[in-house]
Amino acid sequence: MAGKGSTAVAIAVSAEAVNAKKRFYRKNVGFFKLMEKIKLWPARSGILHGIKSLKVNGDFAEVTTHCGETFVVRNSRNSRAARWLRNKWCACACKACKVPAWKLEKYSTTMMTQKWGSGLQ
Ligand SMILES: [Zn+2]
Repeated sequence: MAGKGSTAVAIAVSAEAVNAKKRFYRKNVGFFKLMEKIKLWPARSGILHGIKSLKVNGDFAEVTTHCGETFVVRNSRNSRAARWLRNKWCACACKACKVPAWKLEKYSTTMMTQKWGSGLQ
């Protein structure tokens, strides 16, 4: 009976591995590359946070902001954050992150003059 149980576990693990592989090959690095470059993260509230570290793991990335927040984001060009980074650049920077003005300026001019994703791959 114990053998039956372990077989079920083995199947579950390999199915998960297959899914992980699919996700891995489908990944689109553009969004993470952009974040890595500009080091800014738009929070849901519309405030820009400074990214302290970005750990990419397949389709997901663990983002740590300068104000101490850590969260996982999915790599998607169509996500709220990706759209935000592309379209808006209102400079409501997080005070705790101390995002320098030059960075916001550079970000805004980069967004205005470059097409999404160009030169990042
Ligand atoms: Zn912040």
